[in-house]
Amino acid sequence: MSAAGRLRFAGRIAGFGTASGTRVVLGMWESSPFGRFADVIAENRGHLSQLDTAIGDGDHGTNMDRGMRKVVEKLDALEDPDVATSLKTVGMALVSSVGGAAGPLYGTLFLQMAAASGDKRELDLTGWTEALASGVKGLQARGKAQANDKTMVDALLPALEALNAAASEGAALPDALTRSADAAEEGMKATIELEARRGRASYLGPRSVGHQDPGATSTHLLLRSAAEALGGGAG
Ligand code: ADP
Ligand code: MG
Repeated sequence: MSAAGRLRFAGRIAGFGTASGTRVVLGMWESSPFGRFADVIAENRGHLSQLDTAIGDGDHGTNMDRGMRKVVEKLDALEDPDVATSLKTVGMALVSSVGGAAGPLYGTLFLQMAAASGDKRELDLTGWTEALASGVKGLQARGKAQANDKTMVDALLPALEALNAAASEGAALPDALTRSADAAEEGMKATIELEARRGRASYLGPRSVGHQDPGATSTHLLLRSAAEALGGGAG
């Protein structure tokens, strides 16, 4: 059974999903962003490691796949979690199972998102946007990466900007998530021309130019998975 299938069995896992299209709710629904993300990471494991071979040490795909398998296992064991519990479980699983830069950074992202979610049972677009903003802030505080340093931040910041724009226009949640995934995709592609200033790729200096950043690529997959899990999908 797929990871998404196992999560569906839990029924109340992961804290987002909606029938109305306006709220991220806990409840019965077809798929979860994290189940979907785990499947997509497994499918893209080779691709992500290939990208990391060009400008790093070639382990980003295997790192993320190991981490997301752990996430699914841990989420599966939860019963009726609130949003913060789900996000905290994801963060802890990644921190404990993924070595290297990406594990602690993604871990921080989700742990900060959990902290920003309080005891909410559901997140609306504003709640999701605020949680992600807090997560990105924590990730940047930890990794010190700014825009255009050729890291996952270059996918996260445009995604956040798109969410803020969508929220201010009163967009529906699936539409907003699709727009944030599209913005992350643009940010990911834009890393190709950048010179890395953080992480392992920065050791290459100008030779890092011409290669897409693996972390920005996995971040795009994360945000696309969130959009797809809500039926938004590709723009
Ligand atoms: P490692 O570089 O330790 O092998 P991974 O290969 O799993 O770890 O992850 C590499 C990715 O981590 C990079 O592509 C980049 O997006 C991200 N990254 C590395 N350092 C930072 C940092 N300081 N801030 C944000 N992201 C970073
Ligand atoms: Mg690596």
